[in-house]
Amino acid sequence: MRHGPRLSRRDLLRGRFLPSAPPAADVAAATGDGVAVVMAWGCLAFRGTICSVCVERCPEDGALRLEAGRPVVAPDRCTGCGDCVDVCPAPSRAVVIRPRRDR
Ligand code: SF4
Ligand code: SF4
Repeated sequence: MRHGPRLSRRDLLRGRFLPSAPPAADVAAATGDGVAVVMAWGCLAFRGTICSVCVERCPEDGALRLEAGRPVVAPDRCTGCGDCVDVCPAPSRAVVIRPRRDR
């Protein structure tokens, strides 16, 4: 007797038979074990457009500040809450939460 969904060869090749795990960044944000990282290549402020939304939204004093108009994270103060990620208007989300062990 067969149990579970039928899997086609294409499913197997695409890895659909594997249980999906949440991205490490989501786990880090949910567990508070993450830290914000600004991706300079996608950040509007680094590319010459005035933007400080992430800094304004950050609830932790000194965790995210502007230096020469560009956002800089203080890892020891960042809680990994993800508020800065949610408000970033850059097309490719220029700030992400990374697990601390990856840094
Ligand atoms: S993750 Fe939270 S605490 Fe860290 S820089 Fe972003 S808004 Fe601030
Ligand atoms: S909100 Fe996004 S684009 Fe704007 S300064 Fe922060 S990281 Fe850069």
